Amino acid sequence: MAARILSGKPIAEAIKAEVAADVAEMKNRSAYRPCLAVVRVGENPASAVYVGNKVKTSEELGLRSEHLHLTAETTQDQLLEVVDHLNTREDVDGILVQLPLPKQIDEKVVLEAIDPSKDVDGFHPVNAGKLMQGNATLVPCTPAGVIEILKRSNIEIAGQNAVIVGRSNIVGKPMAMLLLQENATVTVCHSRTRSLADVTREADILIAAIGRAGFIRGENIKEGATVIDVGINNFTDAGAAKDLFAAEDLEKRLAAIENRGFTLVGDVNPKEAVQKAGAFTPVPGGVGLLTVAMLMKNTVTAAKMRRRI
Ligand code: NAP
Repeated sequence: MAARILSGKPIAEAIKAEVAADVAEMKNRSAYRPCLAVVRVGENPASAVYVGNKVKTSEELGLRSEHLHLTAETTQDQLLEVVDHLNTREDVDGILVQLPLPKQIDEKVVLEAIDPSKDVDGFHPVNAGKLMQGNATLVPCTPAGVIEILKRSNIEIAGQNAVIVGRSNIVGKPMAMLLLQENATVTVCHSRTRSLADVTREADILIAAIGRAGFIRGENIKEGATVIDVGINNFTDAGAAKDLFAAEDLEKRLAAIENRGFTLVGDVNPKEAVQKAGAFTPVPGGVGLLTVAMLMKNTVTAAKMRRRI
């Protein structure tokens, strides 16, 4: 039987509606609107789209937002000055520095300079440490969004075998901590894992966060498992598209490759996953939609914590 498709859209919309209601209520109670400052450095086109979405969604939900766009030549010291200033500003609740940064800037140094109470991406070591200890307040948005998809789709987490492929600080590791907190039995795989398919086939919940288009194949998936595809890759190979996309999807995908040069694909082969999995998040239209919604939620959480309102 074909897998149940776990669309991110209704879940992201529900979370955004909850955030908007929270912001409206805060405004009535204290005449205050939380503010998100987004810093972008350079001209990465994908970053411009992501930042645009974040600013637009903030406005839609009633938050205030500021977009600071610095040139590609910005030095690390100049960026740190901007972050320091945002740290001290009373009217800024959340600070997000869009990654990647130009090569002259060390991302780690910049992320560690953000005031942890305003770190709405949840990447600061203080917030990573709190997550590890099970008392996180600001949790990385993408893994937090995955938990929302599972819970709001009524997928049991407690007691399940959860396998994550990928161990980055922004997805794989925080994902492992969140699933552990939800009482899953968690395994984390990476590029040095032996016999990957033998491990992933044990998963009731399989999370792919690898950065390689269609890497997880049918043979990696246990019959009936829930497969969450975090990956976002630009796929350009029209000749190989038929191996990834089912007939009903293929025409649209080929048209996208022809018209704009690529189509978005996750880290899971969707054609094979849909045959094997019990439930599956699509790309696009799955986890990616949750990331911005969770960022908005974190901004409101940061405002509430900092202002005790
Ligand atoms: P990353 O930092 O590059 O990490 C990739 C992970 O995959 C690493 O841990 C790596 O292992 C592992 N890996 C690579 N090749 C492997 C292989 N052959 N077998 C097993 N594991 C392998 O990537 P990331 O930042 O976590 O992002 C992962 C994916 O999620 C990307 O497609 C990215 O675009 C997407 N993403 C989506 C969102 C969203 O909003 N939906 C947000 C963030 C990221 P090693 O550690 O051993 O190198």
